[in-house]
Amino acid sequence: MPREPRGASSPPTTPTHTTSIRVGIGYDSHRYAPRRPLTLGGVLIPSELGLEGHSDADAICHAITDAILGAASLGDIGEMFPDTDPANKNRDSVGMLEAAVRRISTAGYAVGQVDVTVIAELPRLAPHRDEIRARLATALGIDSQSVSVKGKSNEGMGWIGRKEGLACIAVATLIRKR
Ligand code: MG
Repeated sequence: MPREPRGASSPPTTPTHTTSIRVGIGYDSHRYAPRRPLTLGGVLIPSELGLEGHSDADAICHAITDAILGAASLGDIGEMFPDTDPANKNRDSVGMLEAAVRRISTAGYAVGQVDVTVIAELPRLAPHRDEIRARLATALGIDSQSVSVKGKSNEGMGWIGRKEGLACIAVATLIRKR
């Protein structure tokens, strides 16, 4: 039987170690609290309600930090920055994100792209979206076109619908540098 020519159905021959893409997911949630800042994606958003937390409670940064650490199988934010360590109290979460980027970079990865969904009844994210994307892009070492930030309400359902707090889900891809 004649051999079929190599075509679209042939298995890829590019070595996977040069094109390897890894995917990670991160989740975070924080409770609303009065007299606390509301910082999301490194941007301080004017609001009567802020977010409670040991650090600055920046749920976007925390979810992305877990996504990139997860993509590289390099642990998680709680292990890198334990809330039992007083040094982490009110810590700037963009700094935590940058530390995670350095960790995955040392392991041979660069961030490819990030997609974030914030599930919250407040604040409205749209007016702050581009500033958040730019801030995150700088921290991640990528173009802001590679950072997506989306806001969703929870249609009034459950603890998010009752405005007890907000949640954030992030997906990140990492590219092998060598
Ligand atoms: Mg958190």
